[in-house]
Amino acid sequence: MKNNFFLKVEFSRIAELIDFLVQHCEELRITREGENAGIEARGLEMDAALSARLAILYPEIEVNIIEDGKRERFEPDLPVTLRGILNCPNPNCVTSQPREPALPEFVVVSRRPILLLCTYCGRYLNQNRITAELFKVNKKVPL
Ligand SMILES: [Zn+2]
Repeated sequence: MKNNFFLKVEFSRIAELIDFLVQHCEELRITREGENAGIEARGLEMDAALSARLAILYPEIEVNIIEDGKRERFEPDLPVTLRGILNCPNPNCVTSQPREPALPEFVVVSRRPILLLCTYCGRYLNQNRITAELFKVNKKVPL
């Protein structure tokens, strides 16, 4: 379902955020608010994958949903298990094998700071590793 959202994030992190918001919404308006950027995202499809990405990549982000001109706090949902959102960096992991149909799957060990555990090979992913994996191009992982 599409809705209008207002997001507040540190100005230095805005470029990467806009990069993937723009794929999910109809219109973006950005204003600077001191150290932060205010982003108005109209017609944004806040699906489970986008919500999980926001929660993983921007733990400090403020997200509001706009309804009848009012802003209501929106907590991006982070499921206990993440499937098919990012790849395992371990080249020996079963999910890294090109002929294996297994989708990458991670358990959220901690939310702040973020720590994920691959359910197949037991490799841990911290914030830096997650960011690197998320911005890799991989056809296997749907956006
Ligand atoms: Zn793995």
